[in-house]
Amino acid sequence: MTPEERAALRFDSKTVYYPEDDATQSIAAPLVMSSSFQYDAEIYQRVVEGERKDVNIYGRCGNPTEYQFEEQMMQIESADACLATASGMAAISVVLFGLLKSGDHIVCDWTTYSSTHEMLDHRLTDFGITTTFVDTADIESVKAAIQENTRLIYFESIANPTMKVADMNALVEVARQQEVLTVCDNTFASPCVIRPLEWGVDLVVESATKFISGHSDVIGGAICMKSEKLPADFLEQIRWDTMVKWGSPLAPFNAWLLLRSMQTLSIRVERQCQSAMKLANHFAQHEKVNRVWYPGLASHAQHALAKMQMPTFGGMLSFDVGNANKALKVLDSLKLACFAASLGGVRTTTQIPASMAFLDIPEAERRQMGISDGMIRVSVGIEDIDDLIHDFDRALALV
Ligand code: PLP
Repeated sequence: MTPEERAALRFDSKTVYYPEDDATQSIAAPLVMSSSFQYDAEIYQRVVEGERKDVNIYGRCGNPTEYQFEEQMMQIESADACLATASGMAAISVVLFGLLKSGDHIVCDWTTYSSTHEMLDHRLTDFGITTTFVDTADIESVKAAIQENTRLIYFESIANPTMKVADMNALVEVARQQEVLTVCDNTFASPCVIRPLEWGVDLVVESATKFISGHSDVIGGAICMKSEKLPADFLEQIRWDTMVKWGSPLAPFNAWLLLRSMQTLSIRVERQCQSAMKLANHFAQHEKVNRVWYPGLASHAQHALAKMQMPTFGGMLSFDVGNANKALKVLDSLKLACFAASLGGVRTTTQIPASMAFLDIPEAERRQMGISDGMIRVSVGIEDIDDLIHDFDRALALV
């Protein structure tokens, strides 16, 4: 298939198709488990001349299986370039440290994954990079927060764990007017639900650990780019300037597992979204549930926006059962859904954001993020939905 024919494929076909491997004619992606690559005089000369992209040098700089993962990610996130990383947090750190220098400023949504919030709120400040946290749903507050030294607006397409939906058009327009970049974490939604680069976002960061992997067996991440504001080779620059120096490449076996998982991404996420919608509707009627956060429900603050931006509403939802003790009792009583960190897998996982992922965030900030003590976050898997509903009903009956 020519690159043009490949580019014309629809999303589901792109997830399944790999370019042929000329060396072996294998239709599955080859796995190259080498940390080192042999030089000859010609290769040596090309490396010396700085032509590093097409030459395999050393595993920390890149690996053929990892490059193939980058190529697939580019296809499914509609990107012009991709850089694979060891984890989602490595993708976020590499892109921020690659873009920013001391004295720069970020405008970030109040609600992001806890480690992201903590990195912006504490770690980056040690390097003279400051952040103003705002509610990006209030676009005037985004505009008001932008300063002369602001370099970027950071947000999640669907935010962890309140399912706040980012208004892509509005945020991209503010960034255009103010000449700043937009960086969007697309982990919670996945590229099946929204592809932020198609809406004009400059950079997408993603934890491939979640929906892309789908089987709770890999840690990985990716940075995807389509931007007229950045040089075309920006990700190559930060591969060498930042990722290689930090030693955070995606391991080849993980890249291979992710390549295999991507081929079923569409059908997995389709089922996860369908089941999440059913479960959200069920919880919305449940006497033991005080509140449900799911963009597919009319009660969600940005339901109209979600409907406009996304064909489905994602496989993640949260609901509140009143307090931390009840939340713990419910999760401890589940038999099918597991009480575990992480998300996006074929098996349903649940957690209590206030006392797990967001435990280190001060209570006042957690409140600002919209996280309640009795909030339970559910990553809906591909189990039979009636079995899942039965499992949750049985656990909820105990509180
Ligand atoms: N972004 C979001 C929205 C997440 O929920 C997570 C982890 O839960 C990450 C990034 C970090 O991903 P990883 O665990 O692969 O570093």
